[in-house]
Amino acid sequence: MISTDICVIGAGPVGLFAVFEAGLLKMRCHVVDALTQVGGQLTEIYPRKPIYDIPGYPEITGEQLIGQLMAQIAPFRPSFTLGERVEQVDKQPDDTFLLTTSAGTVISAGVVVIAGGLGCFEPRKPAIPDLQLYEGKGVAYSVRDPEVFRGRQVVIVGGGDSALDWTLVLTGIADKVTLVHRGNTFRGAPDTAGKIQELASAGKLDLITRAHATHLTGAGRLERVGVSVYGGESLLIPADDFVPLFGLTPKLGPIAEWGLNMDKDAVSVTTLDYSTSEKRIYAIGDINQYPGKLKLILCGFHEAALMARSAFQFIYPDQRINFKYTTVYGINAF
Ligand SMILES: Cc1cc2nc3c(=O)[nH]c(=O)nc-3n(C[C@H](O)[C@H](O)[C@H](O)COP(=O)(O)OP(=O)(O)OC[C@H]3O[C@@H](n4cnc5c(N)ncnc54)[C@H](O)[C@@H]3O)c2cc1C
Repeated sequence: MISTDICVIGAGPVGLFAVFEAGLLKMRCHVVDALTQVGGQLTEIYPRKPIYDIPGYPEITGEQLIGQLMAQIAPFRPSFTLGERVEQVDKQPDDTFLLTTSAGTVISAGVVVIAGGLGCFEPRKPAIPDLQLYEGKGVAYSVRDPEVFRGRQVVIVGGGDSALDWTLVLTGIADKVTLVHRGNTFRGAPDTAGKIQELASAGKLDLITRAHATHLTGAGRLERVGVSVYGGESLLIPADDFVPLFGLTPKLGPIAEWGLNMDKDAVSVTTLDYSTSEKRIYAIGDINQYPGKLKLILCGFHEAALMARSAFQFIYPDQRINFKYTTVYGINAF
């Protein structure tokens, strides 16, 4: 079992900054995220888009900001459980909590900070009969380790950044890559789209445009993908893997079941300290709701600072906070 002062649910920018604010007050954090990487929406939805409203940075991309936050919290040595969703939060007789993840990891924490953003990201699935039958048997909705596809025949479907980026990566690894896209032009970055066209012209990948996948076949495991080309032609493409990349959509998930006061799809908090209706549970960032709420990263940072000062009373009940500037006392690493 993992034991910590604060369990932060969500490794988006706000969850990460909460680790910093808690660390300044000598509270240790364990961070859990359902995604396999840190960064929340910034890493998952817009890693290379510039953000213009982070104080002190006239312009910074999502992935750069997450890199800076990880460097900023490093002195406080937070621990992470990634790729697991927090399913249950159970209050113990001594008022602390036991959190259980989708993989059965158990975390004991004095305080819980929900920084769950818009919820957990789930893949948008195409409407193809028997799709679920082949999940884990050739159908995957993300590429976690490109090496898994080495020497295989892969059919990717989609026209956005994710489909284009992974087509490029896998073209050097898989035996054969086929990209199926319903349009003639791509939504993804123009330079990546250009590279895809070049590889297709050079015969290094099969590009089928104005087409969509219709069905899957295989005895127990995926063997072929049916594709219908607009205009009439039908193809049956041999495939070990079928990877539809139509983006991810956030779903609130189990947070709604934890008995907290909710306001539609968000957790109601008081702006005094961003505490929820349950003592020792806080909600910060996009996941919370209060009058005047703005879903901005900088607002979440402010909420993290106030949350940490309030959480201190539960972790160190016999101590009082001495307000200190970092310019005066610096960072006291763990
Ligand atoms: C395209 C786009 C552009 C944007 N541009 C800007 C901008 O310019 N400026 C700005 O300030 N904001 C911008 N935003 C908004 C900004 O991204 C959000 O305000 C910010 O990501 C909120 O951070 P967060 O840490 O609260 O949540 P998120 O970034 O959503 O992270 C929440 C994390 O919690 C995890 N999670 C949820 N539930 C669970 C669970 N039960 N167990 C484990 N993990 C869980 C999720 O997997 C996720 O990784 C933009 C958003 C989008 C989509």
